[in-house]
Amino acid sequence: MNHKPRVRFAPSPTGYFHVGGARTALFNWLFARKLKGSFILRIEDTDEERNKPEWIKGIYDALNWLGLNWDEGPYRQSERYQLYKKAADKLIEQGNAYYCECSKEDVAARALPNSTPGYDGFCRDKNLGPGPKRALRFKVPPIGVTVVDDIIRGQVEFAHSSFEDFIIVKSSGGPIFVLANVVDDADMGITHIIRGEEHLPTTPKAILLWKAIYPDIPIPRYAHVPLLVNEKRQKLSKRRDPVALEDYKNQGYLPEAMLNYLVLLGWAPKDGREVLNLDEMINEFSLEEVNLSPSFFDVKKLRHFNGIYIRDLSDKDFISLCEPWLNTSKIEKTSNNLETFSKLAPLVKQRVEVLGQVIPMVEFAFADEVEIDEKSWQKSVLKNKDLSLAILSESFEKFLHLDWDVESLHKSLEEIGQNLGLKLSKTQASIRVAITGNSVGLPLFDSMVIIGRDICLLRISKAIERLKLELSD
Ligand code: GLU
Repeated sequence: MNHKPRVRFAPSPTGYFHVGGARTALFNWLFARKLKGSFILRIEDTDEERNKPEWIKGIYDALNWLGLNWDEGPYRQSERYQLYKKAADKLIEQGNAYYCECSKEDVAARALPNSTPGYDGFCRDKNLGPGPKRALRFKVPPIGVTVVDDIIRGQVEFAHSSFEDFIIVKSSGGPIFVLANVVDDADMGITHIIRGEEHLPTTPKAILLWKAIYPDIPIPRYAHVPLLVNEKRQKLSKRRDPVALEDYKNQGYLPEAMLNYLVLLGWAPKDGREVLNLDEMINEFSLEEVNLSPSFFDVKKLRHFNGIYIRDLSDKDFISLCEPWLNTSKIEKTSNNLETFSKLAPLVKQRVEVLGQVIPMVEFAFADEVEIDEKSWQKSVLKNKDLSLAILSESFEKFLHLDWDVESLHKSLEEIGQNLGLKLSKTQASIRVAITGNSVGLPLFDSMVIIGRDICLLRISKAIERLKLELSD
């Protein structure tokens, strides 16, 4: 007998790939990799109205981006209807399922006020055959309980009295989720079902079906992982919260940072470390240690993690990861510009949390004329017009013949400031706006050295001209 675990990730392609799906996929993948088992990908595309080919592609792209490679599949439920039909026929033959011709309206009309809503078993003993508008229902044993043995939640009991005879095949002939899910898990030899907590309420139904269809196959172990919530403790929702994995990719999050953040949603290593590489995750992750309470999906923390991973990149890797952003920017890809970019890159790497911030931070270095941010101009130049003019003019004179390195620039601006009774930071401010267009940004002297004396002098003189005009107004 094969003791290696077999797990599956079974997304339904009904929307953008969700960060919650990514967390479920990761937990499955880590479990399989740690125990040298198999990670299977199964697309649960039985809901024809809500599935779209681009959502399926989104699933493959997301898993590939994260590096969560699958060992088998992708299987598609839409190609496996024969199997579900066979299982349904078996249930009919055994007397575990029956056809029902009640419409939704019929069921609602018969419901007694204050009674548990749901189907009342009207067609249970009618012995109806198949026919149009007839759905197939599973006969839930009226008494007793079904226990879900959950690795994370322990034994969770569900009384049969709380279930109606649920539909397993729609009147249109399509299988209902829970039937297809059970048939596939049995057929694929799944040993552990790791999935979101929202599936816990349907699990007893799955177990009842399993026992009726596959009495000889052991029921898989379950592990329902906690919900993801936003800062208001509401369940993460596609409409309200930023949940599409693709958006994170497009903003310049790194897959490694995303994986590291996701693994901490419901689990933490024993020693409280937070930054873990993939090997450490594989070695240390354990389903038994996953906790019960909802996990807060904290975008700020994810962003902070991403910054850590960006700073940890080599300059070379950082530069090559910036390429897609460079390609879509206004920066011309001349060899000069690329060289300037590679000089700025180590400074930028220390200061961004997502790669999408890189281009705005370096754009000033690539145009002849810098675009001045008006607020910065007001705050750092105009507010003290005369002083600013003195700083700019004196700098221009000094910079003409200065050794063009960080130390000399630093020293000379310090001196200019001292003569005017100013601290370096104040003196720097107007030069920074004149040269970079903004009052915040990369280290000033390094940037000046990189973009070169000529451009710096040009920009200082432009600022002087503008300031003189504004002084005379
Ligand atoms: N197809 C289900 C979903 O996307 C998952 C079912 C399961 O993992 O058992 O939510």
